[in-house]
Amino acid sequence: MDIASLRKPELTRRDFMKVAGMTAAYFGLSQALTPQIVQALEENNGKAAVIWLEGQSCTGCTESFLNNLEPTASSILLDTISLRYHETAMAASGHQAETALEETIAEGGYVLVIEGSIPLAEDGAFCTVAGRKFTDIVRDTARNAAAIICVGSCATYGGIPRSGPTDAVGYLFRGKELHHYFDDVGPKPVINLPTCPVHNERLTATIVHYLTFGTVPELDQYNRPYAFYGKIQHDNCTRRGNYETGRFVTDFGDPNQHGYCLILKGCKGPIARQDCWNRKWNNRGNYCIDAGHPCVACSEPDFYEDTSPLYAHDYDFGLPPL
Ligand code: SF4
Ligand code: SF4
Repeated sequence: MDIASLRKPELTRRDFMKVAGMTAAYFGLSQALTPQIVQALEENNGKAAVIWLEGQSCTGCTESFLNNLEPTASSILLDTISLRYHETAMAASGHQAETALEETIAEGGYVLVIEGSIPLAEDGAFCTVAGRKFTDIVRDTARNAAAIICVGSCATYGGIPRSGPTDAVGYLFRGKELHHYFDDVGPKPVINLPTCPVHNERLTATIVHYLTFGTVPELDQYNRPYAFYGKIQHDNCTRRGNYETGRFVTDFGDPNQHGYCLILKGCKGPIARQDCWNRKWNNRGNYCIDAGHPCVACSEPDFYEDTSPLYAHDYDFGLPPL
C-alpha cells in the first residue's frame, strides 16, 4: 500500500522550491544547487521507496516527524516519497502490510528508516513484529536497502532502552562502541540522526540530500552529519554568560534565577553536539534550555546510560574560576 497514493497530493513547484532551499541551507550548500534539488524531487515524485521500521521505542520519532502545525518541509516530503511500510502511519494492516514490506524488499534500492532500538538479548526475543524477531526483520530489510537512516537516540546508539535488560543497541552502535551484529549485511551508507526524538528538519533534509545527490553528507565518528551535530551546545548557549559569571540555577522555583546557567541542575550542554540552540523544536518555537530545562545530551551516544541521573551535576564538567 502506497500511502502517498491515498492522499492525492497536488504539489506545486513552489512547494519543491521550499524544501530544496531548506535542504541547501541546512547542509551549508550553495543556493545555486536549489534547481538541482528541485529537479531531483520532481523526478522522484512518488517513486522513491521508503521503508520505516520501528523496534523498541515510544513512537516519539514518528510523532516528531508527522506533527506539524503548518504544511512544512516534512509534510511536503511525505507527499513526494513512496512510503511503503510504516506501522503507525500506513493504512494497511496484518498480512496486507507484511506483503507490502516483502514486495518492497524484493524490489530493493529503497531508503530504510529505523526507529527504536534493537534488543539483542535472548536471541532477540524481546521485540517481535508479525511473529518475527526484530533483529531478523532489520537484517532482511537492511540487506536490500540503498541507504539506512537511523532516527532518534534508540535506533542510533540504544537510547534509554540500553539501560534495561534487553541489550538494546542501535543499528551500528552500542553506546559509543561498534557492535558488528549486522556486519553480514555488508557495507551500507548509514546515517545516524540522534536526539530524543529525532528532529523532523534533520530527517527531511537528510532524505532529500540522499535523493538528490545519491550520497550521504559528511559524517562524524558516530555517523552523525556534521551539519547538524558539529557544534557544542555549551559554546552557543544563551545562558553561557551566566555560567561564566557564576550565576547558577539552584532552585527551579526561584524567579530571581530566571535565565541562569543550569549546570548545577544537571545540564550536559558541555558534551552535547547539536544545533538545537539554533534549530529549536516545535516549529522553531523553543527548545529545552530556553524552556528552563537542562540539556540531557540526547544527541550523544552516551545517552541515557552514561548521562544519568539527568538532574545531577556531573563533576567532570568543571565550573568557571570566579
Ligand atoms: S551548562 Fe548548560 S545551561 Fe549552562 S551555559 Fe552550558 S549549555 Fe547553557
Ligand atoms: S537541547 Fe539537549 S536535551 Fe534538548 S533535544 Fe537538544 S540535545 Fe536533546
